Amino acid sequence: MKRFSILFSFLFLVLACKETPQEKPVEKQVNEFAIVIHGGAGTILKKNMTPEKEAAYKAKLEEAVKKGYEILNNGGTSMDAVEQTIHVLENSPLFNAGKGAVFTHDEANELDASIMDGKTLNAGAVAGVKDVKNPITAAKLVMTNSPHVMLSGAGASQFAKEQGLEIVDPSYFYTENRFKSLQRVKEREKKKDADKTAAFYDADIKDSKFGTVGCVALDKHGNIVAGTSTGGMTNKRWNRIGDAPIIGAGTYANNASCGVSSTGWGEYFIRAMVAHDISALMEYKGMTLKEAAQEVIQKKLTALGGTGGIIAVDKNGNMVFEFNTAGMYRASMDSKGNLTVKIYKES
Ligand code: ASP
Repeated sequence: MKRFSILFSFLFLVLACKETPQEKPVEKQVNEFAIVIHGGAGTILKKNMTPEKEAAYKAKLEEAVKKGYEILNNGGTSMDAVEQTIHVLENSPLFNAGKGAVFTHDEANELDASIMDGKTLNAGAVAGVKDVKNPITAAKLVMTNSPHVMLSGAGASQFAKEQGLEIVDPSYFYTENRFKSLQRVKEREKKKDADKTAAFYDADIKDSKFGTVGCVALDKHGNIVAGTSTGGMTNKRWNRIGDAPIIGAGTYANNASCGVSSTGWGEYFIRAMVAHDISALMEYKGMTLKEAAQEVIQKKLTALGGTGGIIAVDKNGNMVFEFNTAGMYRASMDSKGNLTVKIYKES
């Protein structure tokens, strides 16, 4: 009898010591579908804005996000929603993408864009194109109609032409505002004691902002797509390419975690691999989207000295805006039709 009781106690001990499986928190689908957009982050201060300008930005952001919302609400794909929404922003001179792109040192416009499909992890990008009206569509076609992920310069334009995309004269991208901004930066550069980096990036000029555009959407089928389009940074030289067309830095999407589109000082976003890092923290460390975005933007990017922000949507329809600048042009809509349009930290 004694032997039995010893055996039972031993068995009990073994069973008790066996690790009880960790209860995984039940994830709640907060939105059947969702869409977020940005129009760039930077030194956007209310005191430097006129009410007219503010209203114009907000109206365009609203128009763009509603375009994508309608597609998603009608059961369309996040791929279509992201592409069509970005077209609205690329075609507006208000943003630094497509028409309204910033100027390079050589007074040209060189456009970068990328898109990623969270279901297949397929991606496409173009960099340094000068005559493609809607670079986001060129990026999409690189993904779907070529064996490559990224095409650049004249070759990317040639590909876009062969795909039947609208090619425009480079003068189409000209806007007086952006041209003046380049002249100001160049003037500053000439000053003997100029901080070369500040001059390069138009960093503390009154209305300085980045202005890249991006969109992330989750559709009713559970697929996440992220896209980003930009003219890059004022006064860029030597065919500089930023983070926007780099998968993992400017754009990332994975149905298992989230989709992200970045905007800000591209060199830092490349070095911090911002978009993929956020997804990886969710996937490997089990962080929530908000936690992961805060970790990467407020800690990692900020510690490096980088400025900017991201928009993101996770597989449960949670939406996040995270930035370390004074403002970020941004908007979102959830599946219940709730609309948010903001520019500054709070409003
Ligand atoms: N990230 C872009 C770049 O570095 C600029 C921006 O977001 O406005 O090219």
